[in-house]
Amino acid sequence: MKILVINAGSSSLKYQLIDMETESVMAKGLCERIGIGGHLKHTPLVGDKPVYNEDINLPTHAEAIAAVIDKLTSAEYGVVGSMKEIDAVGHRVVHGGEKFACSVLIDNAVMEAIAQCTPFAPLHNPANITGILACREVMGNDVPMVAVFDTAFHQTMPKKAYMYALPYDYYQEDGIRRYGFHGTSHKYVTARCAEIMGKPIEELKLVSCHLGNGSSICAVANGKSVDTSMGFTPLAGLPMGTRSGDLDPGAMQFIMNKHHLAIDEMLNVLNKKSGVDGVSGVSSDFRDLDSAAGEGNERARLALDMFAYWVAKTAGSYVTAMNGTDAIIFTAGVGENSGDTRKAICDYFGYLGVTIDAEANKKRGEDVMISTPDSKVKVFVIPTNEELVIARDTRDIVCGK
Ligand code: AMP
Repeated sequence: MKILVINAGSSSLKYQLIDMETESVMAKGLCERIGIGGHLKHTPLVGDKPVYNEDINLPTHAEAIAAVIDKLTSAEYGVVGSMKEIDAVGHRVVHGGEKFACSVLIDNAVMEAIAQCTPFAPLHNPANITGILACREVMGNDVPMVAVFDTAFHQTMPKKAYMYALPYDYYQEDGIRRYGFHGTSHKYVTARCAEIMGKPIEELKLVSCHLGNGSSICAVANGKSVDTSMGFTPLAGLPMGTRSGDLDPGAMQFIMNKHHLAIDEMLNVLNKKSGVDGVSGVSSDFRDLDSAAGEGNERARLALDMFAYWVAKTAGSYVTAMNGTDAIIFTAGVGENSGDTRKAICDYFGYLGVTIDAEANKKRGEDVMISTPDSKVKVFVIPTNEELVIARDTRDIVCGK
């Protein structure tokens, strides 16, 4: 069975074609600048085919999907003989609200329900819907499509964890609550961690740290998300690349009054000009921060210290929430690649009996235990694979599992 995984943004579209017999990626790529020009990078990963990397005209997402199908099936760059070999499509959808606690086969009612969640993710859900409609247009109605939601994994959070301490009507009437994001990533790495530890996930308490450009932490007890650091939107929780994370709303009011900012301008600051980028004034990229801090830049050092501190104290609060933990997992760009950041975070976990193996902590790009064999709580680096979760869910739903 071959599954096309689509992650549609407002002007971009990422894809992977996955062979489910081997769970290997046959081809992957990215369409960019959709609607404002167009560029397609397509990388075939089977056979000895060249990479296609060109500007092409992509006025809409439908043209982008058509270009992707054209490359996937072409003699020069293709990995399948025809579109008929693609058995199903899995779509990443950012927000499923309280309507979706798991992945679903897409039909008209599901499309309507995704559209109803748009007020919660006004930039993302419309782009995801556009991607689904574009696929329908190009691939027809016979190819089954599945929606996999970033929020669904967190629908198991208990009410005491997801409620805000606001007047109750805002929850009841408007759905204002914590939803959480990065669900497919937290689901993948915790399942993989249980596999590596050789224990049923139903018997484990795990803290999953997804640290990338956007970052979130998730407490997973018995395979279920019981708390997570992002909230109503992905702006909440940890300081991130350019996002502020948690902030006293009173500080927002002060800044808006003092600098005459409208709410959209304030949110632009919180989303795009804050986080480690805002604190350091150097960059949102941890590689740049590491070099700047190494050269004595104090604000870069501060940004890195704040990040490690926030990750450690949030993870620590989840150890309390679960009354213990068996393992801590690092994943995503920073979590998978920055041994220094992992070390700085784990230095806070002495009270848990965590000890880090300095040699193992240097490894990259593979599943690895970075704690010493006698560490009371194990620490793992597990490269995330959200596309594989989407493909597996799609297969299971299409095959009726
Ligand atoms: P992601 O959002 O998961 O793609 O993560 C992207 C981020 O990972 C980048 O912005 C960098 O901050 C970080 N990153 C990637 N490679 C490295 C590296 N070798 N060392 C430190 N940070 C890295």
